[in-house]
Amino acid sequence: NLTGLDDIVSLSKSRGFIFQSSEVYGGLAAVYDYGPLGVELKRNIQNTWWKAMTQAHDNIVGIDAAIFMHPKVWEASGHVEGFNDPMIDDKQSKKRYRADMLIEEYIQKLRDKGKAEKADDLQQQLDTTGTRNGLCEDLYEIIMQEEIKAPDSGAFDWTEVRQFNLMFKTHYGATSKDDEDAIYLRPETAQGIFVNYKNVLDTARVQVPFGIAQVGKAFRNEVVARQFVFRMREFEQMEMQYFVEPGTDEETYNNWLNKRMEWHKSIGIREENLRATPHPDDKLAHYARAAADIQFNFPIGWQEVEGIHNRTDFDLSRHQEYSGKKMEYFDQKEQKRYVPYVIETSIGLDRCTLMVLCDAYREEEVDGDTRVVLKMHPKLAPTKVGIFPLIKKPELQELAHKIEADLQEEYTVLYDESGSIGKRYRRQDEAGTPFCITVDFDGLEDNTVTIRYRDDMKQDRVSVDKVDEVIRSGIKS
Ligand code: ATP
Repeated sequence: NLTGLDDIVSLSKSRGFIFQSSEVYGGLAAVYDYGPLGVELKRNIQNTWWKAMTQAHDNIVGIDAAIFMHPKVWEASGHVEGFNDPMIDDKQSKKRYRADMLIEEYIQKLRDKGKAEKADDLQQQLDTTGTRNGLCEDLYEIIMQEEIKAPDSGAFDWTEVRQFNLMFKTHYGATSKDDEDAIYLRPETAQGIFVNYKNVLDTARVQVPFGIAQVGKAFRNEVVARQFVFRMREFEQMEMQYFVEPGTDEETYNNWLNKRMEWHKSIGIREENLRATPHPDDKLAHYARAAADIQFNFPIGWQEVEGIHNRTDFDLSRHQEYSGKKMEYFDQKEQKRYVPYVIETSIGLDRCTLMVLCDAYREEEVDGDTRVVLKMHPKLAPTKVGIFPLIKKPELQELAHKIEADLQEEYTVLYDESGSIGKRYRRQDEAGTPFCITVDFDGLEDNTVTIRYRDDMKQDRVSVDKVDEVIRSGIKS
């Protein structure tokens, strides 16, 4: 992967995919806004996921739960007690670091200096302590012993490692400011599904096994949030929780892991940039019996895009305990009662959007020039068709506008008459537009246009009535 993250950041800004939030005020760290192309791309990814989950499965239904939830939810889920990252401050520079990331940087420095053995040893210690929770005294010891320096200041004067809860807290209602009214912005969408599981069961005519899908915002006060939309403080998740009979969970988990891998390929991500990585048993989250990441080869290395988890009956049992409401399922056929197990697929929409941009980005040499092109699957492309009159002449403009109006019913199209045709093609290459149509004088005679394809830049002459068909089959492929 030769592309740097900087290339993606700068293209995102210059073409209007993704902007930093509140940029005119200097920006708000780890929060981003989607521009005209970005919102289309993100929505196309979301729709593709939604369709693959709900429409393609007769036993998966959707919901849209609120961001605010009863505070007890987060006690039951374990987030109040345990959704922490290990944090450490440098007293001198007042900068805050995620302790495990500091160690990782240090390990890299050791490797750069050829001290591989020591690096391996530290890496092993870091791996066994885990990154979230539980990573405290041991790590602190390592930091002190190794005298790790703050990455930018050189000097160091560390505080102790503290566990920092990642949930954003705010106050609910107008009257009070005490902690009694504290309410959280949800750090994951899953809990909205668990607390609605009974409602869905009672109303949607589903039977175990069945799934509930949801797309929505989640908020995490990440200690370190760099790397563009890879790690944000406000982001979107697309999650599906699948409720199964205990004993069938392992098989279902494996099925979903495979299915989700196939989905990533189906949206055009190159196979060599994808891999599934199971979590070792000793690094599983408190609620999980098995877990795997689907990882993508980002410019910053192989990183998780999606998690597949076997959450057992942990969540439903906890909600049963904390709410006092029964969460059991009665199996009519077998005449038995049980709390279902949950297999979860959880993917970040923003991270997925970044994956699509990274996988699509190419720089190609064309006639001694570099063309930047986003070779993404046509079904994800923000603009499907560019329409250009060869020059600004009324007859050409008229036919171009007519084609535009016809196609607009079904596709996002862009009419552009400024600059040379070559420049107009390049602009659409950078936007990932798979098809461009040019209207010229010959076409006025025989009712044809030129279709130019983004990926191989080939051009075809087609009849105006065939345009729709060509585009339709191109998007499906
Ligand atoms: P990480 O280890 O990267 O912090 P996680 O294991 O905590 O992620 P999950 O809680 O399993 O992540 O969330 C599921 C998905 O949500 C992730 O695979 C990722 O795509 C997305 N996600 C999680 N945190 C963020 C974030 N801060 N910004 C953007 N996407 C995120």
